[in-house]
Amino acid sequence: MKKTVQESLAEVLNRVEKAKVHSGRSSDTVRLVAVTKGVGLDTIQQVVQAGVKDLGENRWQEFRDKFLSEHSIAVRTIQWHFIGRLQKNKVKHVVPSMCCIHSLDRWDLAGEVERRAVQEGKSPFPVFVQVNMTGNPAQGGVKENELFTFLEKLTALEGLKVCGFMTIAPLCQEEKKTRNIFSRLREVRDMARQRKLPGGVPGELSMGMSDDYEWAVQEGATIVRLGRALFGERRP
Ligand SMILES: *Cc1c(COP(=O)(O)O)cnc(C)c1O
Repeated sequence: MKKTVQESLAEVLNRVEKAKVHSGRSSDTVRLVAVTKGVGLDTIQQVVQAGVKDLGENRWQEFRDKFLSEHSIAVRTIQWHFIGRLQKNKVKHVVPSMCCIHSLDRWDLAGEVERRAVQEGKSPFPVFVQVNMTGNPAQGGVKENELFTFLEKLTALEGLKVCGFMTIAPLCQEEKKTRNIFSRLREVRDMARQRKLPGGVPGELSMGMSDDYEWAVQEGATIVRLGRALFGERRP
């Protein structure tokens, strides 16, 4: 029988906990962002009722159709995370309605997010710098060798709060390769911390999806972004 959302959530939380203990991170907080792309409102309602407060969407249009319509769920307690490729012309919508952007990877985007954040009274606006650790351009993200230059420019913008870094693992699902990517991002984060950047220490690591979140937690993730592990396979 198909698992209920409650059962899947309990299993995920249990696995996160085990991964934390396994890697000596018992006292760390790992936040769960439930990725609701392709998921219907009834199901989303269940995960919210089960106590999840952070939801992630990767496309503005889908977010708008689901959550800003009159039929939407009552949602004052929820924080929405924008996790997908962001077009500049969508920033004016995303900034007012969402709590943060995980996928900041371009300078022109940064300027636009800052401008809108100031306009909306949401400055400084929380962002994660997406880093491309796989070399696969389809995944987006700043190249590793351009990261620190980008970061220095970014942290000088007063309207942004750089919370940390986000990455997407390779699709291979091979443990060694995947963990390598995650641990590299952790090292990048640690290097960033050592630079005295204006605006403070970007400490968060948003990494780990349904196929690899336990490895991500073991390598230091502070936020995992899970869709299928909670809601089952998406229809193509
Ligand atoms: C879809 C998506 C996720 C969740 O993926 P699952 O494999 O369903 O857990 C996480 N992060 C991003 C950026 C996504 O687009």
